[in-house]
Amino acid sequence: MGKIKFSIHSDDTDFSEAAYKYWLVNEADKFVHLTGDIANELGVPPQTLTSLIRKHTTAVAIDKQCTDCGRFYPLTSRSSFSERRPSRAWMCPNCIATKRQRSVEAKLKAEQIHREKISETWDPNNRYARPLEKYALIDVVSMLSMVRGGAAEDYSYIKPVDSFDEHLTPNTEFTVDITSLIEACLHRILEAVLMPLSLPTIDQQAFIFTKFTG
Ligand SMILES: [Zn+2]
Repeated sequence: MGKIKFSIHSDDTDFSEAAYKYWLVNEADKFVHLTGDIANELGVPPQTLTSLIRKHTTAVAIDKQCTDCGRFYPLTSRSSFSERRPSRAWMCPNCIATKRQRSVEAKLKAEQIHREKISETWDPNNRYARPLEKYALIDVVSMLSMVRGGAAEDYSYIKPVDSFDEHLTPNTEFTVDITSLIEACLHRILEAVLMPLSLPTIDQQAFIFTKFTG
């Protein structure tokens, strides 16, 4: 049995015969009939044969299946059979779209959970006092950098990092370093700086999660 399974959607006997010959392969995966001969017998120009076949037949390669749903690899012409590379994993367009949609949903869900945790953590009612001198130098430096970049001196607001008026440091590499430090220290910093304030206004959208963007 050949590796091509096909069905012909036409009542025309001559066309059905031509379509059968078009898709017929032998045990060595070689097409049995030449397309020029098939076109001649059917009485159509050779260059129109493939589009006619494509329009009135459905063909699949049974040695290649979607890794998700098992659907057979669709064939649009003889060359798509020759180029199918059966050993290479393949996912059908439907499954790719579904996977992409799931990935987007998972990303949104993860971000939502992240934001809910932030809301809980930074609820003013959950804050507790901790003396500033208890904080490490790195936290203090980070706090000052934030003020310099785009936070109020009393930390009554913090702007999104990408809208800071000035660069945090003189060069990009150092800015990346200090931004990572700030991210790591942010929770401790805000415990310290928000503690003396009564209900400060923090815009939740100011938090940008690099792993959820780009
Ligand atoms: Zn599939």
